Amino acid sequence: MERSKISKFAAVLKKLRLRTHACAAEMTARAYQTMSDTKGPNFLEEIVAKDLEAGKYKSLVTRFPPEPNGYLHIGHAKSICLNFGLAQEFGGYTNLRFDDTNPVTEETQYVESIKQDVRWLGFQWENELYASDYFDQLYAFAIKLIEKGLAYVDDSTAEEIAAQKGTPTRPGTNSPYRSRSVEENLRIFEEMRTGKYPDGAKVLRAKIDMAHPNMHMRDPLMYRIKHAHHHRTGDAWCIYPMYDFAHGQSDAIEHITHSVCTLEFIPHRELYDWFIEKLELFPSRQYEFARLNMTYTVMSKRKLLQLVNEKHVSGWDDPRMPTISGLRRRGYTPESIRDFCDRIGVAKRENLIDVGLLEFCVREDLNKTALRRMVVLDPLKVVITNYPEGKVEMLTGEENPEDPNSGSREIPFSRELYIEQEDFMENAPKKYFRLAPGQMVRLKHAYIIKCEDVVKDAQGTILEVHCTYIPESKSGEDTSGINVKGTLHWVSAGQALPIEVRLYDRLFTLEDVSEAEGDFKEHLNPDSLQVIPTAWAEPALKTAGLDERYQFLRKGYFTLDKDSTADKIIFNRTVGLRDMWAKKGQ
Ligand code: ATP
Ligand code: MG
Repeated sequence: MERSKISKFAAVLKKLRLRTHACAAEMTARAYQTMSDTKGPNFLEEIVAKDLEAGKYKSLVTRFPPEPNGYLHIGHAKSICLNFGLAQEFGGYTNLRFDDTNPVTEETQYVESIKQDVRWLGFQWENELYASDYFDQLYAFAIKLIEKGLAYVDDSTAEEIAAQKGTPTRPGTNSPYRSRSVEENLRIFEEMRTGKYPDGAKVLRAKIDMAHPNMHMRDPLMYRIKHAHHHRTGDAWCIYPMYDFAHGQSDAIEHITHSVCTLEFIPHRELYDWFIEKLELFPSRQYEFARLNMTYTVMSKRKLLQLVNEKHVSGWDDPRMPTISGLRRRGYTPESIRDFCDRIGVAKRENLIDVGLLEFCVREDLNKTALRRMVVLDPLKVVITNYPEGKVEMLTGEENPEDPNSGSREIPFSRELYIEQEDFMENAPKKYFRLAPGQMVRLKHAYIIKCEDVVKDAQGTILEVHCTYIPESKSGEDTSGINVKGTLHWVSAGQALPIEVRLYDRLFTLEDVSEAEGDFKEHLNPDSLQVIPTAWAEPALKTAGLDERYQFLRKGYFTLDKDSTADKIIFNRTVGLRDMWAKKGQ
């Protein structure tokens, strides 16, 4: 007696806690909603509007400049939405420029995936460009700086150059090669280009000020020797420009008006401006915003590559990855990702965005668009004893109740059905509204049934549940006058389609993985993938296509996986119907 009281009390407490959590999730959702409704222009929109109004530029030109050394992730999506979004808003255009100045890490397969991802997100670039197309032009710029006495060839080793740099509080020292004549510099630089020297033998440096308070201005490197094959220029070059000497110049060549990048480039801005000024180029300007960081994941290509190479995930497009291709395979829609990028806004300070917001956005979108289907993940056989054997009745269910134009589908009903194990309880507590001996529930789009008997084997394991149905209770034409509290999803056993279902959870167990001490991979979630080899689906799912999204009633949103074949249909769960993580935290 005592004990049952205690457990009852515990159950009430648990329920209360769950409710608080659900409320909290709902409140966050509402806060996000308000956030996006009341948002004014962001600081970049203000700058652009002012510049255009002042006639500083004729029209806005932005660029998205990925380095083709990995797949794009949701952080890049933020940058894409920002750059393309600004151009759309102000009637300008955006270039897609591959920042391919480092031959060692870049590959053509990445170029293709990047183009596919940008297009999939819903954006079209004006020009497809490559920083490597400017190699001749950049070389000419370097010559111009040498001629102006603003660049020199340095024979110092990397260690010597580092030692010359000084520290933020101590000025650097001049290289012994700093005073080389223009003629000598021109000659050696040309020799560097023609391949006379091995890697690392010499570099070209800008001649600025070794005592400059900004360390990036202390005679930064412009070119290095690298005898490496480039994915586009092949072996034409053995010297390659550094980021700082390629990026701003590429912007200027393309007449980019507003070059938007992430905060870590703030100290580079002075150098960006210096090169443009000394070379007398189009006055592109750099602006910085905070990069997107998200909870329970990593957002650096280097770390994502490790996960792929060490097989912690099945590939760049593993549905648990924060890559665009992973999110796409998981069932995310471009609309939901754009909505997410819009809601988080443009920040000037680093922050960590709750992945729950991304999930909220996809639920919002899929609720409006996903087709409804019934799928039983963990089956319990139900036999309707008063339903004729061999009879199959076609019932109808709406494709999507949120969309009156979506039409309907046919669902077979028969004497033998599956429901979820968790929707039946032999010794149910009061207020259990699902199926239990003597209790009635409605089967969605079908009839009210009553549980009459439980059939067990010798060990006491439940084999099946015997029910009767109420013929007058058919959904849509119910004259039974019976009211039941619970409605269950189900499938007809004879027509059910076997499918594999993959349920995903967060890839990491740590909220802020960047704060992890030691190896970040120690915080991988061992339960991030759960495979259900055989779930039972209503037959309408047989014709599912890769671009279709579904809500499996009461189970979440799902999409077909690309590994599916005619014999093996596989579905990925995009997201649950509610924030299950909040519950799990209990
Ligand atoms: P990573 O650190 O993941 O390797 P990256 O900055 O080296 O990324 P790039 O290919 O150079 O990747 O990035 C292309 C553009 O996307 C750049 O303008 C970069 O600033 C932007 N970007 C990259 N990561 C993020 C992020 N997390 N949030 C917002 N913008 C980002
Ligand atoms: Mg980069």
